[in-house]
Amino acid sequence: MERCLDCNSLLTRDEKVCVECGTKVGGEKGGVGGLVASLASVAFYVSLASLIISPFTSRGPGFTFCLLTTFALLFAMRTAKDGIGKVKKR
Ligand SMILES: [Zn+2]
Repeated sequence: MERCLDCNSLLTRDEKVCVECGTKVGGEKGGVGGLVASLASVAFYVSLASLIISPFTSRGPGFTFCLLTTFALLFAMRTAKDGIGKVKKR
């Protein structure tokens, strides 16, 4: 039994899209890629925030480090999303 991540309604295994809210429900293979993608996107926004505030504060990592981390995470995010696309296309 699966639950929709968005509205928490119960879904059958065959349902790929939530009946209640229309959110796509990934299979097990897509789920791992989706988890990586969502983790990468969270880390991306954290590092982007660090990048923005880094010139204004002496605390935390330097501007260059934040810039490199942000680009690395952006690349990781794109790679993870490409992986999901390949799984769906077969
Ligand atoms: Zn839903």
